[in-house]
Amino acid sequence: MYGLIGKKLKHSFSEKIFKEKFGDKFQFELIELESIDKLHDFIANHPQLKGFSVTIPYKKEIIPFINILDDVTKKISAVNTVLISRNKNESILSGYNTDVYGFISAYKKLFPVNPKAVGCNNALILGTGGAAYAVKYAFNINGINATMVSRFKTNDEIILYSELSDDIITNNKIIVNATPLGMFPNINLYPNINYKAITNRHLAIDLTYNPEITMFMHKSKENGANVVNGYEMLKQQAIKAWKIWGLINK
Ligand code: NAP
Repeated sequence: MYGLIGKKLKHSFSEKIFKEKFGDKFQFELIELESIDKLHDFIANHPQLKGFSVTIPYKKEIIPFINILDDVTKKISAVNTVLISRNKNESILSGYNTDVYGFISAYKKLFPVNPKAVGCNNALILGTGGAAYAVKYAFNINGINATMVSRFKTNDEIILYSELSDDIITNNKIIVNATPLGMFPNINLYPNINYKAITNRHLAIDLTYNPEITMFMHKSKENGANVVNGYEMLKQQAIKAWKIWGLINK
């Protein structure tokens, strides 16, 4: 048995993607936990569970429960994939982050050999959650400077929405919405930036995939930007998780 652990999972596409690939060959469950403290009990009571994905709001909260963290998860402090190894009554949890791989694989055209040569060496990431840190890491290892935008000034590298001038938007040709604003059912919400400063030289990526065209994408597109949603990233990060669970080879 495999699954997705989170809080409200009714609108997740993970089960659909899993079933499209594997049909009924493996069981896949949407596992809603009211608190991450229930994780150990759930694992103990479901000995058939071999691995699971992790989503909002547990990608960071799950870390103290993980026995072995890979290098990427250590750097970005967010786990979205767990492999369970069982030994009699003991369960060893290994934590991975496949969002980094998913983002790079889905949008690899964003990562040219020399980003500076094509003028897309700066990006803005809206939000500071687990997905935002995965995207920042993906940009950084590909030579693109990424700045996070937040409601709170928690460190000097983060800028506030109120500090997001038109000049900053002009100088950052890639803008990623890594907040849940606009995600179904709250489809009329969007991050509070000046969309008028967006041009046809911008690329606006929304990590959300439901709805297909979010309000962030709609408003960016109205000003000429190329837009893309998070569905391909969702598929790519899932493929990487299936490899970690040993369900596919490549
Ligand atoms: P998260 O940990 O809940 O973080 C989201 C961030 O959004 C928060 O850190 C917060 O940043 C900001 N935020 C939350 N509520 C907000 C509000 N009302 N106004 C403004 N900002 C707000 O979520 P996550 O796991 O990083 O995921 C973020 C989004 O990416 C979700 O929509 C998720 O579905 C999507 N996602 C998609 C994929 C994919 O494969 N396509 C993978 C991962 C995530 P501040 O507090 O700093 O403002």
